[in-house]
Amino acid sequence: MFTQLNINAGLAFSAFAVAVFCLVSSLRKNLSRVQHATYLIICISCVVCPLTGIFEEVFTTFGKEGDGLYWPFLLSEFVFFAFHTFLAPSFGLYVLSLNGTLVGRKKTIWFLYWTPVFLAEFFNIANLFFPMETRPIYTVLITSEGGYLYHRGDFLVALYVLAFLYVAYSLYAFIRNIRAVNTKKIVSLSLFYSLVIVGVVLQSIWADVKFETLFESMAILGLLLLLESDNEIINQNTGLYNEIAFFNDNATAMAARRKYTIITIKSPDYFQFLEMLGNASYNAIEIEISRFLTSVCKAQYVYHLTNGAFGITVYENGKDEIDHITQRLEERFKEPWGHGDIEVSPKWSITVASVPHDIDDPGQLHYLFITKNTKTQNKVDVRKSISLQFIKRRSQIEGAIARGLKNNNFKLFYQPIWDAKRNKIVSAEGLLRLIDPELGFIGPDEFIPVAEENGTIIDLGHWVFEEACRFARNNEVQNLGIEWIEINLSVYQLPEKDLPGRFLETAHRYGIQPSFINIEVTETAEADNNAELVERIQNLAKVGFPLSLDDYGTGYSNLTRLMTNKFKNIKLDRSLLLSAEEGEVGQAVLASTYETMNSLSFHTIQEGVETEEQKNLVIKFGAEMIQGFLFSKPIPERDFVEYVMKFNKIQYID
Ligand code: C2E
Ligand code: MG
Ligand code: MG
Repeated sequence: MFTQLNINAGLAFSAFAVAVFCLVSSLRKNLSRVQHATYLIICISCVVCPLTGIFEEVFTTFGKEGDGLYWPFLLSEFVFFAFHTFLAPSFGLYVLSLNGTLVGRKKTIWFLYWTPVFLAEFFNIANLFFPMETRPIYTVLITSEGGYLYHRGDFLVALYVLAFLYVAYSLYAFIRNIRAVNTKKIVSLSLFYSLVIVGVVLQSIWADVKFETLFESMAILGLLLLLESDNEIINQNTGLYNEIAFFNDNATAMAARRKYTIITIKSPDYFQFLEMLGNASYNAIEIEISRFLTSVCKAQYVYHLTNGAFGITVYENGKDEIDHITQRLEERFKEPWGHGDIEVSPKWSITVASVPHDIDDPGQLHYLFITKNTKTQNKVDVRKSISLQFIKRRSQIEGAIARGLKNNNFKLFYQPIWDAKRNKIVSAEGLLRLIDPELGFIGPDEFIPVAEENGTIIDLGHWVFEEACRFARNNEVQNLGIEWIEINLSVYQLPEKDLPGRFLETAHRYGIQPSFINIEVTETAEADNNAELVERIQNLAKVGFPLSLDDYGTGYSNLTRLMTNKFKNIKLDRSLLLSAEEGEVGQAVLASTYETMNSLSFHTIQEGVETEEQKNLVIKFGAEMIQGFLFSKPIPERDFVEYVMKFNKIQYID
């Protein structure tokens, strides 16, 4: 048979056991993080409160008048309120730490936050010194049956109001900064709020049955299972937070509009040294580095990222502080790193970016690790604000590309290609333009690399292909003497599954023969000697698209590739022409290039001809076709049609 004792003691004991489990688990966490530290305080409160409950249940039942247990009982009440008072503010802090409101805040704010709690605690202590019957918060009475009776004072409500204010504030901050909180956190915290509220409601309905603490313990167990698991965000080698934590923490702080600094440290030589030293030695060196970094900055703000990179977030935003840290890093990273008999001196690139000045979106974080200038002689290359201007620009370009695809801001311009023997425009190269309502005109040299990096080049490539087909679909240009159109293909489009099939399908949809679309590919370091890419390029030729080799002479071109890829046209880069103008050596190179191409029966197109002299020069060396400003810049579709109409002297009838 259940008595009140059994039920209440059982509830309290369950609450206690669950809370102990949470407490022990939380002790293994990195307590320098506000999130974990506050969780620990919550756990301690949740362990102590039911403990006092068990104590009281036992003594309310068995205590007898005059047995001297009055004071322990009173003390137990005192302890209960002392710890229970910490619960709501700790939980509030926990929420604030999750949504970035409190990261790295000044000490005064902490002080302000805790002041009401300490006042309440003072009130709690003072309570003991009031005469028995007039105690404002609680008093413990002895009943005529001989047991102890706990009696709530009128001012106890003040503690509840305070707790309510903390919870309400945390709820407000939680909702206000909800975009800094991911779904997992939202679900976990909602579960927490619901359990606590259900506990309070049940408690107020059945005042004698102590539901409250059990529900609180269940709520913190939920947090433990859902939010406090750290393994996935810890680097197993150094024990520092990893790139997932780095991304999440920055996303949270940026969404909370915090101003702070991110420092990243990366060695462009990482792979080389890893290969040279092997995993074990490199891991030991990384531990050395992490020790140094945590001696410079607080451990919770140092992250060990992939490929041997490190990240630091500094919330003390004084310029001196940042300069001091940067200087210490620079000095140390100039020196070699060692482990046992091994010593290495990689080059390092340190990037100091301030949020939101240099970067203001977590999607830009990866730009901090782009190290373009690896040719610098310095051991340590420090990049600060000025050299980081490209980050926002790149992210703006990303936005413009996305908008462009959605709102049709891209235009395909055409630049005529002239055949020297027939003195006629025979072809055109389609060149992509982006006219963004916010950023204005953006050239392909700027947006193509960004599209290649973020993958939008795939959609862009299809847009260009379709646009060229659309332009050619009703034979308008064909009737003017245009024999084919050239379009550019990026090697980053090649990995797409069945690219030739999709192109073919589009061409058929517009009734265009694949032989009408020449695909220009540029030789690059990546494509060179990459058998798979070579095969994919050939697959385009297999389904009937002729190939042109773009930018020949810019460094990567090699003759073996030329032979294997069965190009129809070779487009000689403008740079070959410019060096030919400079002197004999350049002329000899250009002359022999044309000779080779002609002897191999490639068709040649000279790019970048701007003057009559240049035209005559390349014709003398054997250029078959010419593309350049001398004839026309790339122009919109309608202008191009008019241009060709005039040039080829055809009366076009609409
Ligand atoms: P490209 O394919 O080599 O295109 C030729 C570039 O040379 C064009 O620059 C053109 O405007 C420029 N040009 C033509 N004649 C002259 C001249 O006489 N003098 C000078 N100084 N320049 C001349 P644009 O349009 O800025 O394109 C730059 C590059 O962007 C292209 O080089 C191509 O690699 C890439 N690109 C353009 N459109 C696309 C596209 O639709 N897809 C891909 N993947 N890349 C594209
Ligand atoms: Mg081209
Ligand atoms: Mg070119």
